[in-house]
Amino acid sequence: MTDSLPDHSWPTLDPGWVWLCGAGPGDPGLLTLHALNALRQADTVIYDALVEPAILEWAPQAEHIYAGKRGGKPSPKQRDISLRLIDLARAGKRVLRLKGGDPFVFGRGGEEAQTLVQHGIPIRIIPGISAGIGGLAYAGIPVTHRDINQSVTFITGHDQSGETPSSLDWQAIAKGAETLVIYMGMKHIARITTDLIAAGRPLSEPVAVVTTATTDTQQVLETTLAEAPAAIAEAALEPPAIICIGRAVLMRQVLDWQAMLAGHPPRSTDPLGRGCPAESA
Ligand code: SAH
Repeated sequence: MTDSLPDHSWPTLDPGWVWLCGAGPGDPGLLTLHALNALRQADTVIYDALVEPAILEWAPQAEHIYAGKRGGKPSPKQRDISLRLIDLARAGKRVLRLKGGDPFVFGRGGEEAQTLVQHGIPIRIIPGISAGIGGLAYAGIPVTHRDINQSVTFITGHDQSGETPSSLDWQAIAKGAETLVIYMGMKHIARITTDLIAAGRPLSEPVAVVTTATTDTQQVLETTLAEAPAAIAEAALEPPAIICIGRAVLMRQVLDWQAMLAGHPPRSTDPLGRGCPAESA
């Protein structure tokens, strides 16, 4: 079933194995070739809420099992999903566990993989493009940019109970990376922005909220730290959303390639006021 993949020695998904695979943030074109190779061979695909339906159509021969969780709600239970994977593998299925984005980025892929290994199930891990990187790129926001930041912090706005992670040290986060990328931050956006402002981040700091990034329904809201909660409510934005905080958001004025594709000129060609980077390098 690997006939339409480029010539390469693609691994075989053998019966009894589980491959934990990232499906990318949405646009099926952002799958990896390893993911496509896995879709072609699987008997069973167990997928999450954030996996685009179009991707499953690339595994027509497989049984598709939904194992989604939403908004930190614990159903179906993580333990049940892991046990299901074990049962399927022991029944001799070729199992593809497909997760949105990258399986090891806020996706509990590590927990599932650990449980499988503990039960003697052979695994392969296939990384994917995480929404916090690829989703922002589709919005024209570079997570690193030489004139802006040398580090970036990825944060989850939920902990296991669905609350704002009380273990997060917002003082330290505020003083750390210039660019903050928040997953699952919508529910607690008011608390998060208040904490960051209290920790010294400017009220006027640029914020972008990108919902259903890379899909046909992608929306991007540009706002500021002070105004973000009200602006999100006013625009009636819903999760899933990636929230980016920092001057990287300004780069969208020159890098919003989807707007340019639609015929709009860039709003600015030099949003940081730094001249022409390639010529000053
Ligand atoms: N493993 C995933 C993240 C899972 S946590 C990854 O690497 O991308 C789920 C959160 O990811 C969502 O609440 C949202 O914050 C973010 N997310 C995933 N897909 C998204 C998308 N297409 N658009 C915006 N945010 C997305």
